[in-house]
Amino acid sequence: MTETKPVILAVDDEPEVVQAVQRDLRARYASDYRIVWAGSGQEALDTLSTLAMQDTPVALMLVDQRMPGITGIDVLRETLESHPSSKRALLTAYADTEAAIQAINEVGLDHYIMKPWDPPEDKLYPILDDLLEDWVAGYRPRFDGIRVIGQQWSRDAHELKAFLARNQIPYRSMDIESEPMAWVLTEEAGATMSDLPIVLFSDGPAILRPTTAQIADRVGLKTHATSEVYDLVIIGGGPAGLAAAVYGASEGLSTLLIEEEAPGGQAGQSSLIENYLGFPKGLSGNDLARRATAQAQRLGAEILVPGTVTHLTRNDPFIIVHLADETTITCKAMVIASGVSYRKLTAEGLEPLIGAGVYYGTSNIEASSHRDQPMFVVGGGNSAGQAALFLSRFTDSVTILIRNDDLAATMSQYLIDNLDACPAVQVRPNAQVASAIGDTHLEALVIRDRQTSQEEKIEAGALFIFIGQTAHTDWLADTVQLDERGFVLTGADIGPLKGWNVEREPLPLETSVPGIFAAGDVRHGSIKRVAGAVGEGATAIRFIHNHLASL
Ligand SMILES: Cc1cc2nc3c(=O)[nH]c(=O)nc-3n(C[C@H](O)[C@H](O)[C@H](O)COP(=O)(O)OP(=O)(O)OC[C@H]3O[C@@H](n4cnc5c(N)ncnc54)[C@H](O)[C@@H]3O)c2cc1C
Repeated sequence: MTETKPVILAVDDEPEVVQAVQRDLRARYASDYRIVWAGSGQEALDTLSTLAMQDTPVALMLVDQRMPGITGIDVLRETLESHPSSKRALLTAYADTEAAIQAINEVGLDHYIMKPWDPPEDKLYPILDDLLEDWVAGYRPRFDGIRVIGQQWSRDAHELKAFLARNQIPYRSMDIESEPMAWVLTEEAGATMSDLPIVLFSDGPAILRPTTAQIADRVGLKTHATSEVYDLVIIGGGPAGLAAAVYGASEGLSTLLIEEEAPGGQAGQSSLIENYLGFPKGLSGNDLARRATAQAQRLGAEILVPGTVTHLTRNDPFIIVHLADETTITCKAMVIASGVSYRKLTAEGLEPLIGAGVYYGTSNIEASSHRDQPMFVVGGGNSAGQAALFLSRFTDSVTILIRNDDLAATMSQYLIDNLDACPAVQVRPNAQVASAIGDTHLEALVIRDRQTSQEEKIEAGALFIFIGQTAHTDWLADTVQLDERGFVLTGADIGPLKGWNVEREPLPLETSVPGIFAAGDVRHGSIKRVAGAVGEGATAIRFIHNHLASL
């Protein structure tokens, strides 16, 4: 079968501009993309509708704003539905920049490029390379890869799929109960119902009831460190850990990052981070994780996934890291960046339905498996607000359950405004989940009014829980000093030191053990934001150099 190349469409009504665009696009992208052009807005719409009918993917539209009749923004708006995942760039004159900035919200504009763009190596290709790289990362071609076969509401199958998705490994999910082909493939693999879930690969034997470590090994994730000793080991691959890896590796430290689930941490679960500097349109947590992981690896950091650190011991001045697979790694300095995890909601009937309608956090997988069903979000903070907006893309009924009278004290005003403007979302105040009902999966919730104690049973497809967080520090036991809530104390916050054995005070971000630093949400006093975590991860490296120099 011949593969259709994805298209880059260039649109301009001035022939000499079209010629210049075509020349520059062909010179760089012709080997991977088909370059198509149109001489007017109407011609562009016709071409795009033909491409949609042929099922030809359009990777990028590069459209002039000033065209008679149909403008560039009109073309981009009209094709939002037929080409939702195409990257959109507008060619503008200086006078059009205001319109271009407006278009970021209105038509999901990814970039605007000022004419003329000479030299293209500086002013055109870096922008388009970036957009195309993003498009390729999100593009799912016709399927010939990993298949996960399981029962629709199986918790094990859900965990495997979440692991693959969060590590950005494309897979297809097959439901044994509704897809006859799933049975055929299961039998071909010599498996039965009790072997589910099974994972099939296009190039080798299936794995029955796999662990995430087996899958990781099979798909080429790095599950074992290449060395036994490192200058720097980082625990946790959220924004703080990834920033520490980028700065540590780029500044010449042999650096290992150990992450138990997937790089990205909590940020990887955010559908749209709107307040991270330099991304006016916002960026998804997945995107941030993918970019930061690639950057850390390119600069020489090793990233081990999945790897769980169970505890630490000391052999001063070295720190010994113990992993769940019973291996150990020695390092001269460490950054604890293990973040926080969701607080658990207690209500009757909830626990057995986790993964089968009840979820901590959200992602595309859960949202799309409950498309068009009534969805509920518990929590009144920003992450609950973001989740509700994200879920409203999949259903017209999202109810946020909050304990207070309103959201004012717990959520940012911009999110409250966005929720008010979203007809699919309602807020139910003074509400608490009394119980969850369902045999194989969630079917209904009993909601209690906290003022009247009245209970109401409501049909529910999915419940997403965002009720605050606890520090991810169980694994530290009493190695480093923690505050009363379990967050890691650093620098001047530590107070009276126990067992400190070097002739200097703890450095900023350093814990009560010389050479062990903490960064991001796990640290007492941190601001619980992506930018804060990134800043602390980078800053820790500066003080780690001081510590290493003193050894
Ligand atoms: C849904 C949601 C939306 C959000 N939206 C925004 C937003 O729009 N803007 C914003 O600024 N902030 C946002 N935040 C907050 C932001 O994501 C966090 O502040 C940030 O991720 C903290 O980064 P971190 O690296 O400190 O920790 P985390 O992101 O929590 O990462 C910690 C990592 O450590 C790993 N880990 C833990 N223990 C171990 C162990 N023993 N061994 C190995 N690995 C371990 C975990 O698996 C995890 O990947 C959001 C959070 C959530 C949950």
